[in-house]
Amino acid sequence: MSIERVAIIGAGTMGSGIAQVFAQAGHRVIMIDVIAEQLSRGMAAIERSTARLVSRERLSAEDRKGLLQRIKLSPSLQDANGVDLALEAVVENLDIKCELLRRLDTMLRPGAILASNTSSLSITRLAAATGHPERVVGIHFMNPAPVIPLVEIVRGLATDDATHQLAIDTVTGLDKTPITVNDSPGFALNRLLIPMINEAVFMLMERVASAEDIDAVAKLGANHPMGPLALADLIGLDVCLSIMEVLHLELGDDKYRPCPLLRNMVAAGRLGRKTGRGFFEYAAQE
Ligand code: NAD
Repeated sequence: MSIERVAIIGAGTMGSGIAQVFAQAGHRVIMIDVIAEQLSRGMAAIERSTARLVSRERLSAEDRKGLLQRIKLSPSLQDANGVDLALEAVVENLDIKCELLRRLDTMLRPGAILASNTSSLSITRLAAATGHPERVVGIHFMNPAPVIPLVEIVRGLATDDATHQLAIDTVTGLDKTPITVNDSPGFALNRLLIPMINEAVFMLMERVASAEDIDAVAKLGANHPMGPLALADLIGLDVCLSIMEVLHLELGDDKYRPCPLLRNMVAAGRLGRKTGRGFFEYAAQE
């Protein structure tokens, strides 16, 4: 079977970006959110993002029109009834996600897949809340979803081969590159990236080098497009801290202990670009 109709639950940063990606690839999308204002905000974000693509001649005006027409909005979960794929991108809260997946599971037809965009929760645990854990899979898009080519396909303990393969085929059809990760804290990207950022914060705290020079090491010495401290500011220091806490708690190894300076930065409200100050300072419009 192949995926045609898709429900995206949650119209925030990730949900709206993911809805755009599916609609751009020709899928019919229903975007659902409990907050009506979030639906209009999410749709406005898609309109702006696709208008930019047209102005850069990466999408024709005609194709943009079709893309926008393929996205419907709804405040009701009932409208996910009968879709081929339901993908949730609601707040990162285990109880809310479990309840949502449990309800969605009762609405999908046989053969449909139930996916979560969670960054840090266990797919196995989420799947256990449903009556069909074999059809639950992680489909983890990165931010911004329309731009980043990688998508992690996360197999829970119970995810069956058919669901896994369908997730891979669907993501490949979106012109993204899927990689498979077995359910493990931080999956693959955050397991690699966030401890590197944490180590850079330790280096800063221990005065190994200045923030500028630590970033220069990664950029000029290892050819990274961005230094780890600037990247931390972009991701949000609160997000980095919470991922480190998950790695530390779940893997139980002190090599994942969050750096005290990272904790202090978060306590001081210096969260990075979104607050105008993190390891570096940002002008208001950035
Ligand atoms: P967000 O806060 O921007 O959006 C969440 C949306 O979910 C909100 O619009 C909210 O109204 C809605 N919502 C909450 N409960 C709901 C429910 N029961 N039913 C329907 N809608 C509901 O969050 P986000 O940054 O888009 O993150 C969403 C998910 O994606 C999280 O699991 C997060 O871990 C993951 N994620 C985030 C990023 C990122 O960089 N922001 C990257 C990858 C994955």
